[in-house]
Amino acid sequence: MSAWCRACLKPVTWATTEAGKRLALNPRPDPAGNQAAYRDGTGRWLTRQLGKDARPFGWERRYMPHVATCTGEARTATVSPLPQLPANVIPISRARRLLSARRGDPK
Ligand SMILES: [Zn+2]
Repeated sequence: MSAWCRACLKPVTWATTEAGKRLALNPRPDPAGNQAAYRDGTGRWLTRQLGKDARPFGWERRYMPHVATCTGEARTATVSPLPQLPANVIPISRARRLLSARRGDPK
């Protein structure tokens, strides 16, 4: 299942751990990761933590838990509901008013 991290807005893959908990993994396999994950026949990602010297089984790949690399920038960033428009762009509502005024349409 693809999703985005709410903290840093990067894509993550949600996997289910052996304990039945949900863990966000970075979507690309990572040889430095400590999670052995694979996708089962239903498309669900399953993951288990690898011990120090453990290796993934043949059907698994190593993944990094997203929390290990999350930068969390979006957590503090302020998201403006109305982004500043570039100087040469006007809001569509104003453009419509200008167009209808030019055409002489009734307001
Ligand atoms: Zn993140």
